[in-house]
Amino acid sequence: MAAEQRRLLEQLMGDQFANLNTSKTADLTLSSPQSCRSYLCGTCPHDLFTNTKQDLGPCPKFHAENLKVEYDALSKSEKENMGFEFDYSRDMQRHIGQCDGRIDAAQRRLEKTPDEIRRTGVLLRTISDLSRTIEAGLLEIRVLGENGSVNLAASEFFKVRTARAAKEQAEIDLKALSDTSGPSGHQKLQVCDVCGAYLSRLDNDRRLADHFYGKMHLGYAQMRRTLHKDNLMSLVREMMIGEEEMEGIAVEVAEEAEEEEDGD
Ligand SMILES: [Zn+2]
Ligand SMILES: [Zn+2]
Repeated sequence: MAAEQRRLLEQLMGDQFANLNTSKTADLTLSSPQSCRSYLCGTCPHDLFTNTKQDLGPCPKFHAENLKVEYDALSKSEKENMGFEFDYSRDMQRHIGQCDGRIDAAQRRLEKTPDEIRRTGVLLRTISDLSRTIEAGLLEIRVLGENGSVNLAASEFFKVRTARAAKEQAEIDLKALSDTSGPSGHQKLQVCDVCGAYLSRLDNDRRLADHFYGKMHLGYAQMRRTLHKDNLMSLVREMMIGEEEMEGIAVEVAEEAEEEEDGD
């Protein structure tokens, strides 16, 4: 049943639905596909973010406590045979992948927008054009002055003065634009690289602590830690398998060499 439908049913039926759930979970066995494997192996991501911005809603699968107890009691090799840890890792990986996507998007939002880039380009071009106008104007004034064309020199001087004022204004606009856009603007925001929330660099320690001990941040931190540990473990396991294989190959080579010696 889709999470959305379940939530609706829960609202409509209240306790009755809860009872329905219990009777349903009583029929489940460890291998039932309706049983949530993330819940059995550790913590279901749906339980990590309740009442936060990242609330995933209720889990579409069943969380049966008796099955969790049963699973916990299994030996390591029995657990490995069931392969639930793999499903759990994949589930966490999916949620962390989505979180990483949100972090990237938030990061991009802190960078300059296309409009800000365009306006910056226009202002830079304006400033460079005006600089050239001023330079050429000053040269013109000198030549006109040397030739005694005082009236023409005066009107050229007026043009240069106007260009100078325009250039100063463009420089002020450019500074204002770079102050309010990009990473230096937006109230000194930065993106939390664990959960993707915006943090203000102006926040005091208490507010930062509120964030780092908040449900959403801790939820992602826990998932990342678990997944990291799992990855390390499987790496170690791979290396151990590699060693066993190498030993096997070494034995084979030794045996072959012996056979060859016998043949001689
Ligand atoms: Zn679940
Ligand atoms: Zn965070």
